[in-house]
Amino acid sequence: MSCILALDQGTTSSRAIVFSEQGAPIASAQREFHQYFPQPGWVEHDAMEIWHSQRDVAREAVEKAGIEPTELRGIGIANQRETTLIWDRQTGEPLYNAIVWQDRRTAGQCTELRSAGVETIIREKTGLVIDPYFSATKIGWLLDHLPNARARAERGELAFGTIDTWLVWQMSQSRTHVTDPSNASRTMLFNIHTGDWDDELLRILRVPRPILPDVYPSAHVFGMAAPEFLGEAIPISGIAGDQQAALFGQGCHRAGMAKNTYGTGCFMLMHTGQRAVISANGLVCTAAAQIGRARDARDTEKEYALEGSVFAAGSVVQWLRNELHFFRTAADIEALAASVPDNGGVYFVPGFTGLGAPHWDPFARGLLIGLTRGSTRAHIARAALESIAFQSADVLQAMQLDSGEKLSELRVDGGAAANDLLMQFQADILGVPVLRPRVVETTALGAAALAGLGTGLWSSRDVLASNWEVERRFLPQMNAQAVTDLMARWREAVRRSLRFAELM
Ligand code: ADP
Repeated sequence: MSCILALDQGTTSSRAIVFSEQGAPIASAQREFHQYFPQPGWVEHDAMEIWHSQRDVAREAVEKAGIEPTELRGIGIANQRETTLIWDRQTGEPLYNAIVWQDRRTAGQCTELRSAGVETIIREKTGLVIDPYFSATKIGWLLDHLPNARARAERGELAFGTIDTWLVWQMSQSRTHVTDPSNASRTMLFNIHTGDWDDELLRILRVPRPILPDVYPSAHVFGMAAPEFLGEAIPISGIAGDQQAALFGQGCHRAGMAKNTYGTGCFMLMHTGQRAVISANGLVCTAAAQIGRARDARDTEKEYALEGSVFAAGSVVQWLRNELHFFRTAADIEALAASVPDNGGVYFVPGFTGLGAPHWDPFARGLLIGLTRGSTRAHIARAALESIAFQSADVLQAMQLDSGEKLSELRVDGGAAANDLLMQFQADILGVPVLRPRVVETTALGAAALAGLGTGLWSSRDVLASNWEVERRFLPQMNAQAVTDLMARWREAVRRSLRFAELM
């Protein structure tokens, strides 16, 4: 048998899934890891814990699949993006915890960059808006706050990586320091048009080139996982950031096709073909997974996507569960929310870590508004679920304006896409059919697909796209006036949450 191992290293858990040669999942394993919140607005992960959890679930999945390591033709990685780590090349020791994408500690540096007038140049070269979300200012923070780090970085003693890079470094036993364009394009240091790190950006953001990994196309043999990992040397042949991996796994390969992932955050991506659409409406332009057979990322055929990143989605459900003890499991929110016919006028803006697309306000904070003496836990739960759909609707509107494409359907995945009430409400608010596929592990599937292409197990992505099947189709049912009224009140609630933390 020939199989592919997909590693899906997410924000809250590490997963591994073994896929058959036909692209079907055979066995999987998953483990959660710790989230550290050392100060308000700061979010960190222990890089070693990430590696160990990923290694252990990979071994467990291969064992459950009942296959020999020799049957593994390749390893694909999909990872939480932007999360930033610096380690010592000699010892392999991380200098500090990984600073997670949600972390807001560099909001001040971002304000300074904006006042320095570099917003346009950054947007044009990287496709991004200036926000603490992206890696560059996190790298800057590490180099400025850790003893000797900047000098050591310049001497080439340190390595920077997003989580894909870190996992490859570990699997290859420190031999391979690489990434792919979909991850590189989230650092704010990568020129998405040339496919290379950009010297001018490195200067503006004060990042020394010697710490950066080499960039290769997403489907490519990046290096070998050492036999110590799974018992045999196995090619690491696919890498993409989790959202671009999901776009790939959803079979969205043509301009105008879009998917939305409902995980910790919500990430809507629309493929724009070979056209880099620089957003005028608060979205970002990002490199999609690139599968050209080129030697490195500069020569490969470029593909792009427009993206709207919403920071808090499934995390509002986690918050109601863990902090307010509203229910026992995330899935319980559906019954609670369904116990009332509507939100009762309650709106919940989950600005826990500021607001992402299309507002980009790191100083926004969470807001619960419209409460009356008759408001219940059920209304709040419903408002929380609806906030996920409202935020996605704001993003979609911007996406249609930027791309000039009218969405005909939305493909969905991620943990919270299992929620039927949410999916129906999403279809209602967007006014387009929402399609949930049979294989909802699209992130892992995308990573597996890239790895299978990279190692030559599969010859073209069309083979895989034809495997995509709908499990359930949610059709819009709500009348237009009701949608308009809901959206108007939602937008007013958002307006009131903006810039709140600036007052502190
Ligand atoms: P990530 O990859 O970001 O870690 P997942 O795709 O695993 O996230 O999704 C987990 C998120 O989805 C959690 O934030 C959880 O609260 C939320 N979630 C899981 N099941 C449901 C559900 N049935 N309804 C609403 N939210 C859910």
